[in-house]
Order: sequence, then structure tokens, then C-alpha cells
Amino acid sequence: MKTLQVNIVTPDGPVLETEADMVIATTETGELGILPDHIAMVAPLKIGGLRVQKGDSTDVVAVHGGFIEVRPEVVTVLASAAETADTIDVARAKIAENRAKAKLQAEKDEKELRLAELELQRAINRIRVGEGKF
Ligand code: ATP
Repeated sequence: MKTLQVNIVTPDGPVLETEADMVIATTETGELGILPDHIAMVAPLKIGGLRVQKGDSTDVVAVHGGFIEVRPEVVTVLASAAETADTIDVARAKIAENRAKAKLQAEKDEKELRLAELELQRAINRIRVGEGKF
């Protein structure tokens, strides 16, 4: 059976390089399931989980925005930050969640509010993926 090469890359370096049967990504327009021989495309990603399925096992990677590039045999994700579930520090993400919530309560500046909203989304995403709830 054909497989996909999956590469998830951030400015800190590669986060995951593996073979997969299927990838499910959270794009700005909804969930996208990718099998080998998928048509070539590029799509922006939402802050969310990316599921990488191989046989009976599924790895979930927390991806914080960025882009997915699909080619028939290769899926590449470029994101400003991404973590595999086993590398997520859930306690740190909970601290970040509380900090972002406090900022959302106190902050008046619209740009700062937007940044705090994104911080909150990243923290919630890390908690969900880190706790295996994605
Ligand atoms: P924090 O305030 O905890 O740093 P953040 O949302 O500001 O969270 P980012 O700017 O998105 O963090 O990421 C900075 C770096 O830290 C990235 O390399 C990211 O992968 C890593 N990182 C952030 N939070 C966690 C976490 N909870 N567990 C593991 N790595 C994390």
C-alpha cells in the first residue's frame, strides 16, 4: 500500500518526519483528510491538532497555524510552533492559559487582546493534545 511522507517543520527545526497512511489537518476551511495521491494543494492551517495515522496507531501533533503543502506522496507542514503530544508540557500550557485569560480580562488595547486570544488558543490546543483529547 502507498504511504505519505510527512514532514512537520518549525523555525526550531523538524518536529516530525514519518511515513503515514493518512493525515487529517485542521485547515481554515475545515478538516482535510489526505491520502496518498491527493491532488497538490497549499492551505492555511488553524491552531489545532494534526492527526497522523499509520496502521492502527495515530500520532497527534499540536500545530499553531502555518501552512500545509500537499503533494501526491509528501505532506509538508510549516508552522511557527508545533509539538508532538509526548513533548507537550501540559502544566506550562495551563499556566499560559491562565495568563492569557487574565490578560483578556484586564487588557483594553485591541491588538493586545487579539494576541491574548491567540495565546489562549495555543494553550488550549496544547492542553487538549497533551491530554490526548484531540
Ligand atoms: P509560553 O508562554 O508557555 O512560552 P507560548 O504560546 O508563548 O507559550 P510559543 O511562542 O507558541 O509559546 O512557543 C515558543 C516555543 O515554546 C516553541 O518552540 C513551542 O514549541 C514551545 N512551547 C510552548 N509551550 C509549550 C508547551 N506547553 N510544551 C512544550 N513546548 C512548548
